[in-house]
Order: sequence, then C-alpha cells, then structure tokens
Amino acid sequence: MFDLMKELDGASRIGIGGHVHPDGDCVGSVLGLYNYLIKNMPVDTVIDAYMERPSDVFDTVAGIGEIHETADEACDPYDVFFCLDCDHTRLGHAAPLFANAKKKINVDHHISNKGSGDVNYIDATAGSASELVFDLLDLQKMDENCAKALYIGIIHDTGVLQYSNTSPKTLRAVADLIGFGFDFSTLIEETFYQKSYAQTRVCGKAMFESVLLLDGKVAYTIVTRKTMEEYGLTAKDMDGIVNQIRNIKGVQCAVFLYEMSDTEFKVSMRSTDAVNAADIAVFFGGGGHKKAAGVTMEGSTDEIISRITERIAIQLTD
Ligand code: AMP
Ligand code: MN
Ligand code: MN
Repeated sequence: MFDLMKELDGASRIGIGGHVHPDGDCVGSVLGLYNYLIKNMPVDTVIDAYMERPSDVFDTVAGIGEIHETADEACDPYDVFFCLDCDHTRLGHAAPLFANAKKKINVDHHISNKGSGDVNYIDATAGSASELVFDLLDLQKMDENCAKALYIGIIHDTGVLQYSNTSPKTLRAVADLIGFGFDFSTLIEETFYQKSYAQTRVCGKAMFESVLLLDGKVAYTIVTRKTMEEYGLTAKDMDGIVNQIRNIKGVQCAVFLYEMSDTEFKVSMRSTDAVNAADIAVFFGGGGHKKAAGVTMEGSTDEIISRITERIAIQLTD
C-alpha cells in the first residue's frame, strides 16, 4: 500500500476514473475518493471524476451530479490520475486522460489486472476496490459522503457481505463506515435489492428460459435487444440476473448473455470454486474475478455458448 497524501503532495490537478458500464463498486470507489479529496485537498485543487452515467439507483451518492460523462482529450494533463476498479483498458472516455497524466495511480482488486499505473495498489483478495480505497484513507478525515459511497461499493461487490471475498478486514471497514450514521439498511434495499417491475419481469423471463448443460453444472440464459426494448430496459438494468441463475442447485457456472448489438454480446459469468470464471473471461479477452467475470464476445449466441461451455468443460474435467 502507498501513502496517498504523499503521492498527491503538490498536485493541483487530480483526475479519477472508473470502468465502462459502472457498477456499485465503481461508483463507490470513484465517489468515495472524490468526496475525500474535495474535503481534504487545498480548496484551489482541481478534482475531476470521470465515469459513464451509472444506474439511477446511485443518485443519492454525493458528487454523482458532478461526474464528467465526456472527456476533453486536449485538456491540460492531470498531475495525478486514478484508475479505480479496473485496468487502463476499461477506462473508456477517461483512458486518454489517464495515459497523459504525469502520475498514474491504479487501485483495483481484479485478478486479471497486472497493474496499469506508476503507482499500483492491486489486491485480488480484496472484496472490492472501495475496500482498497478505504485502506488508503484516514478514517478521521472522512465524512458521511465519502463513507456512504465506499459502503455502497463494498456492499455491491460482496453481495451484501455474503460472497467469499468478504474478509474480517472487509467487516472492520464496514463497521467503521456505518459509524458515520447514514441509513445503511435503506441504502442496501434501494441500491441492491429493489428492481423495477420491468426488470423483475425480464429477470423472470430469463430465469424461465434458462437452459442447463453439462449435466446441470452449467446454466445459461439470454436477453435479446428486442426484449430489452420491449420492456424499456438498458444494459444497466441487467444487473442481478446472472446471480439468480447461479442460485440453481448443482450449477457450477452460470452464464448470462445480453445483446449489445447485432453481433456483440455481453457475457457475465458467476461460478463456484469448481470453475475459475476469470480464466475463461481472460481467454476470450475479458477479465474479472475467480467467481465473477465478464467479457464482450462476437458471434451468434449458439457459438458463444458453445465456446464458453467448452472452456468450462475443460476445467471441470481437469
Ligand atoms: P459483470 O459480469 O459485468 O458483472 O462483471 C463481473 C466482474 O468482472 C466485475 O468485477 C467486472 O468489473 C469484471 N469484468 C466484466 N467485464 C470485464 C471485461 N471485459 N474485462 C475485465 N473485467 C471485466
Ligand atoms: Mn466493478
Ligand atoms: Mn469491483
């Protein structure tokens, strides 16, 4: 771990970026750090956060309205630019700003990330990037805005402190964070569990249409663009479907595909210890964690499913 304030010493322009298709951990780590720096850096410091527009369930997180959804590549280089919850390849519109920064700092917990910064804090045993940002901050200098953002990040990436990436260290961080007094129970309900009626129906349709392969060890399901359009949903609304499929008894790897364009599908995988989903995602050019990984793939759904199932089968017979 590095000394955050030492690395920021003398910096007058600071940028922060997260990954494309931002999830709770991306929002939490970016806005947790953003709120902390706003509070603790000299007032004339420029602090800019970059991210695609996340789901509106995160609308109550402080700073969300100040996020830059586009980037001016020709702007003055940042003295320090943070890449959070991903490596430089997934920064989207912030990638050129990171590339041009005088100092690049990468904080991440993806096993597939080899470290994209001049300064790196990469720990694949951490439950979330938000937990790693928490490690870097001084608890005494946090405020409720920062704490709430980091809490959301930790909660989302650990499945409300249930997944095996939850450690005693995670719980100690969460204990400190809820001490700031925000309504954590409502926050979990409204950002993690609550789904719109349309989302619930599409999730139900996806579950009903799920298919078992390899003697029930693999389950897959697909949501087409047509379905998404019919129900007025976008990619941001697909969160949670793959977890439902993974809950099927006997399933070692759940595979969820949704259509991004005519030939492109977003593939999400969730697995048990029996399958390393990150290895499969990396094989096809994506990444992630052992039990939760993703990749964008081209081809027909039949082709994609058979290519992925083949990799899962290799692992299950090893
Ligand atoms: P998802 O299935 O999109 O929820 O992603 C599961 C995990 O894998 C998350 O931690 C993502 O950040 C990560 N992930 C998803 N897609 C990619 C990708 N193309 N490259 C690297 N990591 C990814
Ligand atoms: Mn993420
Ligand atoms: Mn994460």
